[in-house]
Amino acid sequence: MTAKKSSQAPLPQLAPDPAVPPGFSTLAVHAGEARQKVGDAITDAIFCSSTYTFPDTQAVIDFIEQQQPREEYGRYGNPGERVIEQKLAALDGGEAALLFASGMAAFVGLLMTKLNSGNEVIFFDECYHRSREFCTKHLARFGVVTRQVPACDYDAMAGAINSRTKLLVSESPTNPHLSVVDLDRFVRLGREYGVETLIDATLATPYNLRPLAAGVDYVLHSATKYLAGHNDLLAGVLVGRREPLEAVRKLRGIMGSINSPQNCYLLGRGLKTFELRMRRHNENGLAVARFLAAHPRIEKVLYPGLESHPYHEVARRTMHGFGGLVTFYVKDADWRQTAAVVDAARIPRIGPSLGGVESLIEQPMVMSYFEMSPEDRQRFGIADNMIRLSCGVENSEDLVADLGQALDAR
Ligand SMILES: *Cc1c(COP(=O)(O)O)cnc(C)c1O
Repeated sequence: MTAKKSSQAPLPQLAPDPAVPPGFSTLAVHAGEARQKVGDAITDAIFCSSTYTFPDTQAVIDFIEQQQPREEYGRYGNPGERVIEQKLAALDGGEAALLFASGMAAFVGLLMTKLNSGNEVIFFDECYHRSREFCTKHLARFGVVTRQVPACDYDAMAGAINSRTKLLVSESPTNPHLSVVDLDRFVRLGREYGVETLIDATLATPYNLRPLAAGVDYVLHSATKYLAGHNDLLAGVLVGRREPLEAVRKLRGIMGSINSPQNCYLLGRGLKTFELRMRRHNENGLAVARFLAAHPRIEKVLYPGLESHPYHEVARRTMHGFGGLVTFYVKDADWRQTAAVVDAARIPRIGPSLGGVESLIEQPMVMSYFEMSPEDRQRFGIADNMIRLSCGVENSEDLVADLGQALDAR
C-alpha cells in the first residue's frame, strides 16, 4: 500500500489583508503550522510513530480510495514532516516541498525519478563533488550519460544539449568558487530546448535567491546547512511544482530516505530564526571578505558581494545578500603554509560543512581533494593556497580580529 494523497493544507492566513503577502520571517515562524495544536501546545508534537492506525476497516478503504488524507506508515511521511514541507515551500515560493534525510538523498531522489537509461544530464562543472560522483559513477551504471561544461558557460551548455538531454543542473553560487548563475539565461536555455532545470541553491538559501520565481523547475537545498543552521542535523529539500514532485515522493517512499520525526522537529526549530541568522551571515560574510581583500597577505578573495568578483554584477541583480561563505587565497603560500593559517584561527573550528551558527574553516585541497591527483585538482580549480571560511553568527569584529592574528601568525 502506498500513500495515495498528500495531506498538504493551504497556508493559514497570516496577515489581515490576503492581498499583502506575509514577510519572510513571519513565514519562517508560522507557515505550515496549525494555529491550535495537539495538547494546546505552541510547539508541534513529535510523533514517535513508525505506523499509524485506523479505527476500522472502512477507514482503511476510505484512505485507499483517496477520501482521507492522513498518515499511514512512517516511511511515507509523518505529521511533523508535512509541517516543515509546507514551511519550506512557502519560504521558496513553491507549490510543494519534499523533505529528505540529506541534501544528497534529495539529489539522488530527483535524478532517479527523472532519468532513464539513454538519457543525459548536463552540469556546470563547479559542483559538490558527491553530486558529480553520483552521476559519473552510479547513474552511468544505468546508462545515463553525464556531460560537464564550464560553470556559467551558457553557450557550452547549449552546445551539449541534444534530444536525449533531460535535465540541466547547476549550483548557485557554486562551491567553493562562488560563481553565480544568471538564472534568466539558464531558464531560457531550458525552455528553448524543452529541458527541465535544477538549481542547488544551498549556498544562497531562499532568503538570498529565488530560483523558482526566475522559472527554474526544481530547487534543491542541503537543509543541513543554513536552513537548519545549527550544525546539529542532516536534511535535504526539493521545492517546485506539486505534480512532478509527487513522483519523487513515491520513490522516496520506496528508498526510505525520509527524515525522522525528531529531526523534523529540530529543523523546524532552526527555521524559526532563519531570517535573523541569514542577515548576520550576510553581514559577517561581507565584513570578512572586505577585510581579507584589503589584507597584504591575501592574494585573492572570492565573494559575490565584492566588486572584484567575476560574477558581482549578476549577484547584485539576482541576490538579496551574498551569504556567509568566503573563499580566499593566501599570498605566496604552499599548502603547508596555508594549513598553518587554518590552524592558527581560534574562533572557526576546522571541519567540512557550512551555514551553521558556528564558523567553520577548511582548506579544500586537504578536506575534500587530498587524494586527488594535482592535475585533477587543477582541473576542478582547487588551489593549494585556497581556504574556505563559513562565517557563522559570531560578531564580525571578533571574526575579523581572529583572521588578522591567524594571518600574522604564519
Ligand atoms: C552539503 C551540500 C550538499 C549535500 O548535502 P547533505 O545534506 O550533506 O547531503 C549538496 N550541495 C551543496 C552545495 C552542499 O553544500
